Amino acid sequence: MAFDNLSEKLQNVFKQLRSKGSLTEADVRAALKEVKMALLEADVNFKVVRQFTKTVQEKAIGQDVMNGLNPGQMVIKIVHDELVSLMGNDKAELPLKPGNEITVYMMIGLQGAGKTTTAAKLAGKLKAKGRKPLLAACDVYRPAAVKQLEVNGAKVGVDVFSMGDRKNPVDIAKAAVEHAKASGYNVVLLDTAGRLQIDEQMMDELVAIRQAVTVDASVLVVDAMTGQEAVHVAQTFQEKVGIDGVILTKLDGDTRGGAALSIKAICGKPIFYVGMGEKLEDLEQFYPDRMANRILG
Ligand code: GDP
Repeated sequence: MAFDNLSEKLQNVFKQLRSKGSLTEADVRAALKEVKMALLEADVNFKVVRQFTKTVQEKAIGQDVMNGLNPGQMVIKIVHDELVSLMGNDKAELPLKPGNEITVYMMIGLQGAGKTTTAAKLAGKLKAKGRKPLLAACDVYRPAAVKQLEVNGAKVGVDVFSMGDRKNPVDIAKAAVEHAKASGYNVVLLDTAGRLQIDEQMMDELVAIRQAVTVDASVLVVDAMTGQEAVHVAQTFQEKVGIDGVILTKLDGDTRGGAALSIKAICGKPIFYVGMGEKLEDLEQFYPDRMANRILG
């Protein structure tokens, strides 16, 4: 489970802080040094760690905190609040147009990140909220991608628009939105093609889709288990295509959690949801405060 190691380390540091009636500056510095190590071991981006410890230190080393009634507890609260801030403070919501106006999400990401599965998970959630989603199969390159989307769509009870694998993804995206308009759907989720690595052709195709249809949210699906690589991927997609936020998959299998703590700070884009398993109901809204509570135990 994500953050298991980080959680254990931070809890040890804080147990010591709590046990002291008063704190010296040296106590706080020593504790923050351990917090820093724990964050680095959790694979949090080093720039993020540096800024984080600097901010916490500035807030924690001061007369108000150290002469307070319960200084250990106050330092823990500062760390908690900074973790929440690092992850974006409030939960981020995907935009949804009212009534029958069509909202379009473009799901993008590298192959294997969990894009197709996540598109179906998200469509299932929207359906449960009373929306009428349509999944559109724009991945014409990966063998069996269309079929996989159809199978997952059927499992969550959401229709899938496909034109096979002979058509251009831009034409499929346009046709999917037209079909949605004509048939009373109000959310279209475009499942685009991924590659094993970022390449120019892939980026150009995504930009072309964005130009051809009105995309309300460009949602990057990234694999949390790849750690800092996930952050690098997010940065690149942000530069080349533009993203509105991220869905971080496989957080159930990532014991470190560094990507979840770095993406907002590095890319400036929020995490909308996290994938917590292979089953189609395993998609959770991302709440920075709950995540910080989970980390601090
Ligand atoms: P795509 O190539 O990006 O479309 O990736 P897929 O949707 O085919 O997913 C790749 C693999 O990751 C599949 O085996 C999925 O079941 C798995 N997967 C997707 N999301 C999650 C998740 O949140 N947790 C776990 N454990 N596995 C996931």
